[in-house]
Amino acid sequence: MAQADRYTELINTPIGKLVQKQVGLPAPVPLKRFSPGDAVVDGRVLLGGAPGGRLAGALAKLVAEIGAEASTPLREDLRAAAAEAGLDAGPWTPAAAATQKYGAIVFDATGITEPAQLEQLHLFFGPTIRRVKRCGRLVVLGTTPEAASTPSEQIAQRALEGFTRAAAKELKAGATGQLVYVAPGAEDQLASTLRFLLSSKSAYVDGQVIRVSAAGAVPQLDWSQPLAGKVALVTGASRGIGAAIAATLARDGAHVVGLDVPALEGDLKAVTGAIGGSALTADITAEDAPRTIAAYLKKEHGGVDVVVHNAGITRDKTLGRMDEARWNSVIQVNLGALQRITDALIAGRRRAVLNENGRIVCVSSIAGIAGNFGQTNYATSKAGVIGVVDAYAPLLARQSATINAVAPGFIETQMTAKIPFATREAGRRMNSLSQGGLPVDVAEAIAYFASPASTGVTGNTVRVCGQSLLGA
Ligand code: NAD
Repeated sequence: MAQADRYTELINTPIGKLVQKQVGLPAPVPLKRFSPGDAVVDGRVLLGGAPGGRLAGALAKLVAEIGAEASTPLREDLRAAAAEAGLDAGPWTPAAAATQKYGAIVFDATGITEPAQLEQLHLFFGPTIRRVKRCGRLVVLGTTPEAASTPSEQIAQRALEGFTRAAAKELKAGATGQLVYVAPGAEDQLASTLRFLLSSKSAYVDGQVIRVSAAGAVPQLDWSQPLAGKVALVTGASRGIGAAIAATLARDGAHVVGLDVPALEGDLKAVTGAIGGSALTADITAEDAPRTIAAYLKKEHGGVDVVVHNAGITRDKTLGRMDEARWNSVIQVNLGALQRITDALIAGRRRAVLNENGRIVCVSSIAGIAGNFGQTNYATSKAGVIGVVDAYAPLLARQSATINAVAPGFIETQMTAKIPFATREAGRRMNSLSQGGLPVDVAEAIAYFASPASTGVTGNTVRVCGQSLLGA
């Protein structure tokens, strides 16, 4: 744990476990985080699907690629898909489920075209949900409801959201559950999303819905260095979440240009120096900042592939007591500067500073989804950030670029360490994993969006909040 989460440390000692069980206290388990060289899935994968689904082939291919052992029900279509993908899947029956533990259970629900068929979820997950390993994964794949062919199919597919979010709450011991809506024609766009959701890179992402749409071909990748040869700009990189983003993108092969205010130049250079990146100092709210940043990236690197808008501030006060300076500074740093810099980097299409197949990732907050006491300025700015994603996704699609946001919940940083004890404990525990996340959890979600393989992933806001109760 980066900061002192003494409760989690204590509850995982023998005496702590005893007290926790007697009194019924929350039982956070230390989450497994990714280290280079780790397998994508820690354990056997169980693949299932409703009859008539269209993703069995893509799923079997992915599981074969990541080299995981797999099981699949004794149904001809699923076994044929596995065989075609070269996947040697062992047989599975509900009775067999009682003796096996799974690193991941994955279900293709795209064959569900009317509500009565939702019983397939019960039939498959009923005997298996308790067989998910510690820090294991549950993933449901559906069809984007708006792209369904009939009202009944749209309703049934929409229902998957409630199922997945509720099932995620029933998972134990650090396991997580997610739903991926796959648009028709996007069957070949799934690899980056599944590799992220099945692995320990998504440790603190829980109960989320991700939409994958049809897009241009996914490039061939070295999955251990997906950002090799790419240039990434990270604002607010001198500490906290920004420093973790810089380190994670560099791990994935990117040359990182870290940006922060001139007063933090020393800290910024320490971060970028450690990862072979470059440091650029600027106040992003300055009038000429967008032009300066764009000119720097063009001159030094010929352009930029990944832009991460992470710089942000809070200036909390209840609305009736909030002065103009507090309101304006938060809106300007968190939202105004973000939009102006984006505009400067994407202007002029052919001569744009953002390269072809570019990626923009914004850092929002669950306060921008749920609202938060004393944070009308911050919540406004962070909801506006989601607005930027919604508004710019279709514009950027014309430049073969994507834009997405992460919305962190309670992350253990210097910022949250300053929150008064009782409020801090509430923020930490009020989620399905009963603990705060780490800066690296936010960084991993950003690296997933930034991957050149995430061509079909745009317009999403994914919470990195352990399925926080706030705004759920
Ligand atoms: P932090 O305060 O540790 O880091 C923010 C960085 O942004 C600092 O280095 C700061 O100097 C830089 N910055 C601020 N104003 C700037 C400006 N005008 N120009 C250039 N740089 C500027 O905060 P953090 O906790 O690491 O948060 C990072 C992002 O994550 C923020 O956008 C924040 O709103 C968001 N967030 C954090 C949490 C959390 O729990 N920590 C939760 C939700 C969202």
